[in-house]
Parts: sequence; structure tokens; C-alpha cells
Amino acid sequence: MTAVEERGISQAVIGRLPRYYRYLGDLKSEGVERISSQELSRIMNVTASQIRQDFNNFGGFGQQGYGYNTSYLYEEIGKILGLNKQHDMILIGAGNLGQALVNYMNLKNRGFSFKGAFDVNPSLFDKRIGNVPIYPMDRMPSYISENHIDIAVLTVPKAAAIEITGVLAKTPIKAIWNFAHVDLKVPDRIQVESVHLQDSLMKLSYNIRRHEEGK
Ligand code: ATP
Repeated sequence: MTAVEERGISQAVIGRLPRYYRYLGDLKSEGVERISSQELSRIMNVTASQIRQDFNNFGGFGQQGYGYNTSYLYEEIGKILGLNKQHDMILIGAGNLGQALVNYMNLKNRGFSFKGAFDVNPSLFDKRIGNVPIYPMDRMPSYISENHIDIAVLTVPKAAAIEITGVLAKTPIKAIWNFAHVDLKVPDRIQVESVHLQDSLMKLSYNIRRHEEGK
């Protein structure tokens, strides 16, 4: 199926694919060769009809009843998620969160690799995060072009994130993984995924309150 045929697929379906991918990866490493939608539904705690509907968006991935081939399904969902390609990334903002992300991602995610980091703080320029060098901001635009960087990861304060996004919009960057607490405006050709850690914590806080008040 081509990207054009995929256009009508909702973000809700896309949002569920990483979870399918994670469960199938675990099943594959446990040596499970085939899995029915009923069985997948049981372990993932979603309905079997939801699974079938989600998979039908991509042509179904194999017959019901007989079950899905775990490895095939894992590879196909990986391809849909673009995980069969290497993504080179840069970090912008080498503070605590940025450094933690570089250390975590370069160890855990083979397909996504940090090549360089950028910051305004000159005391960081002779340092590295693991083996990732930290450069001054004025090198960032040319570094992106010369090294074919796909993704910029933003771990800077809010105001800096808005300003830097303006600079990124003039580079060939394909996507921004945004950890700053701000919603970014970008040209259509740039994809943005925001991870608002504080929003997530507030949701948790709400659920604690609701649970305690319901007692
Ligand atoms: P963190 O919040 O990531 O744990 P921190 O306490 O240093 O670290 P921030 O003030 O959020 O917190 O800054 C994160 C990093 O972003 C810092 O290393 C800072 O020097 C850098 N930074 C701030 N403004 C800019 C900017 N305009 N361009 C590039 N880097 C910036």
C-alpha cells in the first residue's frame, strides 16, 4: 500500500501502531510464530474487533481464524512506522533532559541515532554526551544539511524553542521531536511530535485526585 492510499487513516489508528509493534516484538522474541486477533486482544486488553479494524486499514495483514504471522506483522507495522530506515537526529539544548535523552536513545533505539548536540552555553562546547559532541548554535543549520539530519530534538526553554523552530524551518529538517512546553507552528513539510511531560504528570495528578475523592 502506498503513502497516498494511506492518507485517509486516522491519527488514532496511527497512535495505536507503536503499541502493536511493541507487543509483537515481545511475542516474536518469545518465539510465538502465529497469533489470533482474540489472543492479541486478550494480552493487549483491546477488543479483537478493534484490532481487525485497525489492521484492515492496511489491507488486513493475513487471514482471521488462522491467525497472524507474528514476524510478518511485526515487520509490516515496522515498515508503516518507517522503522526500517535509519533516522539521524540532533539534540538542541544539552541540559539535564537533553543529556538523558541522548544517553537513553543511543543505547536503546538502533534506528534512531543522535549525531550531534547544540547549545548556547559555551561551557558545554568542549564536552560530549556519551560520544555525541556539543556544538555552538550557529553551526546547527549547516550541520543539518551536511549530515542529512532528519529529526531535531528540542529540549530548550519555551521561548528558545519558538525561535529555534524559525531557524529549523529554513533547513531541510524533516521533523521536530519537541519536549518544550509550547505548541510549535511549522511549515507543512515538517512533522512535529510534542512530548509534554508536565501535561502527562498533570493528568496523573488529576487521576490521583479523582480516585481519592471517589473513596
Ligand atoms: P534541563 O531543563 O534540560 O534539565 P537546564 O536546567 O539547563 O536543563 P533549561 O533552562 O531548560 O534547563 O535549558 C536546557 C538547555 O537549553 C540548557 O543547556 C541551555 O543552555 C539550553 N538553551 C537555552 N536557550 C537556548 C537557545 N536559545 N539555544 C540553544 N540552547 C539553549
